[in-house]
Amino acid sequence: MTNPLLTPAHLPYALPDYAAIKDEHFIPAFEIAMEEHRGEVEEILSNDAPASIENTLVALERTGQKLERVARIFFNQTSAHATEPIKAIEEEIAPKLTAHQDAINLDPRLWQRIDALYQQRDELDLDAETKHLLEEKWRDLRRDGAALDDAARAKLAEYNSQLSRLTTAFAQRLLDDTNATAVIVDDASHLAGIAPGTVAGYAQAAQRRNLPEGTYAIELGLPTMQPVLATTENRELRERIYTASINRGANGGDTDTRDLVAQIVRLRAERAELLGHPNHAALVADEGTAKTTTAISELMDALAPVAVQNAKKEAADLQEALEKDHPGEKLQPWDWAFYEEKVRAQRYAVDDATVKPYFELTKTLNDGVFFAANHLYGITFQKRPDLVGYHEDVDIYEAFEEDGTKLGLFLFDPYTRDTKYGGAWMNDQVGQNRLLDEKAVIVNNLNIAKPTGGEPTLLTIDEVRTLFHEFGHALHGLLSDVNYPSFTGTSVPRDVVEFPSQVNEMWILHPEVLPNYARHVETGEVLPAEIANKLREAQLYGQGFATTEYLAAALLDQAWHRVSAAEAAEITTREQVMTFEKRALEEASVAMDELQPRYRTSYFAHTFAGGYDAGYYSYIWAEVFDADAVKWFEENGGFTRANGQRFREALLGRGGSADMLDLYRDLRGRDAILEPLLTRRGLTG
Ligand SMILES: [Zn+2]
Repeated sequence: MTNPLLTPAHLPYALPDYAAIKDEHFIPAFEIAMEEHRGEVEEILSNDAPASIENTLVALERTGQKLERVARIFFNQTSAHATEPIKAIEEEIAPKLTAHQDAINLDPRLWQRIDALYQQRDELDLDAETKHLLEEKWRDLRRDGAALDDAARAKLAEYNSQLSRLTTAFAQRLLDDTNATAVIVDDASHLAGIAPGTVAGYAQAAQRRNLPEGTYAIELGLPTMQPVLATTENRELRERIYTASINRGANGGDTDTRDLVAQIVRLRAERAELLGHPNHAALVADEGTAKTTTAISELMDALAPVAVQNAKKEAADLQEALEKDHPGEKLQPWDWAFYEEKVRAQRYAVDDATVKPYFELTKTLNDGVFFAANHLYGITFQKRPDLVGYHEDVDIYEAFEEDGTKLGLFLFDPYTRDTKYGGAWMNDQVGQNRLLDEKAVIVNNLNIAKPTGGEPTLLTIDEVRTLFHEFGHALHGLLSDVNYPSFTGTSVPRDVVEFPSQVNEMWILHPEVLPNYARHVETGEVLPAEIANKLREAQLYGQGFATTEYLAAALLDQAWHRVSAAEAAEITTREQVMTFEKRALEEASVAMDELQPRYRTSYFAHTFAGGYDAGYYSYIWAEVFDADAVKWFEENGGFTRANGQRFREALLGRGGSADMLDLYRDLRGRDAILEPLLTRRGLTG
């Protein structure tokens, strides 16, 4: 049997041959690729010759290519198209992968060789990228526990494999609970205010669930505040949707996530102590550019009071608007989005219904996102209908440099489906690097409701923002220009990975970009300047809420991971999890009756399922750099090819090959400062 995951890549840019890959190929491919990887590493470690950069550090960069490929293909699918068989494979393979990586990283011979090189790093006459690779490798291994004794290393491996199992279980329970708690409506009149296309989507969702004709299933997206709440006129339905949203993962039974949270938090705390850190948050801060939890607290403490003060001001406005409809009643959290939308429509006359016809998906992508990238970085995109993605909704584009040189592939997967996780993200199927002569193959995933009957896909301004944002990550991957696979594209510390993607949002409403793509879907008329101006003004509105709900989630994430192992051991029941959450928000002074954190504990996938544990602060941390970099663009003439080139060479193309704070300092001539962020968010008081 030939396994298409293991045969040499034969498609352009080493694009995976998705059409040939079947579920049953994954397990054998993982097994064989892991064995091959072990063999390659063994050859390096059993070499009698003393460690050299070439026979150890660079040799390691060449190992595990098959495993890397299988894993990238598989983990793209676990997030974008997690069918039942794929979920079962993930459960089986995730702990094995962790154990496999641990066995390599914790091999004492590896530590000896890398440490020997590290000790002579100043005498080896290394180029900057290779020196950085050595330092990062040494630091990573130490963080992984490579310098520990045998008993401690075994304990660490045990923590890692348990955590991998628990976080996978969290993600799957959350997906199941989210599917189970869709809000079912059997009376169309209750859906007043909701756009017809959205209602049609709910009818289809009900059909998929085999519900009777005339029922609607409102499926929930990841954050607390469901977008549909902004237009749902029926207050009872708003309450039902909101209540379902904030109770996800906390409904009792098999899909409750809270007992997993308690276990995850305790194990992370114990592991941090084993590695010599007071708690998990301290360990994570040390891995990032923040370095300490104190630095994180300083930023959040500076923001929390101004954010809450602004949110309270906004709540007072909304209360007034609510009383016109419901005299004498108090604003509830499920009313917030609806009245915010009303007040925004009154003040700025730019409700979603008015602007959506101007933001058609294909046009926004081609004449907005690609146009801006072309103008700034010189790159162009061409659709490749001959190439096949991992799902029929995936479109594939080929990217070229200004002079026609091939750059990479861009896979675009915009629509929501039952098998896709909530939210939006970028990942890569192949990462650019010169060592293995690989070019980038990048995927962007969004969760836009697919319209029915060939209707055009119209975007809200928030969806436009998400599109530009995720494409900012895609650019980070596509424009990567590094030597080593370890440094490709978005392989930067987590707390700055959002920086380039956030910068790309600056072009959405830019006067030289917006008119190029914001054209009425039927008439082709350019979005009127008056509406465009109001969209710009409206950006400042609602920032009190947005900043507060975000900070509340970030502070909650920090609180869960600043507990010691002894403190964590005291939290075991579902009720104790809720009590901890409540107290943490009160102590951080971000508790408000009218709003909840952007994610509550039981559905905080960023922190308990993957990737952003003790790292949710990263978004605002990165935004400090983003806002300051936007100022840099503005100060240097804005939307120009020269600025794009400078930004590309100084930052976007450099991936993780140098310390991002150093790169930033080189670009800016100084460190980033907080003021541009405060101004942008209207938080200057
Ligand atoms: Zn992002």
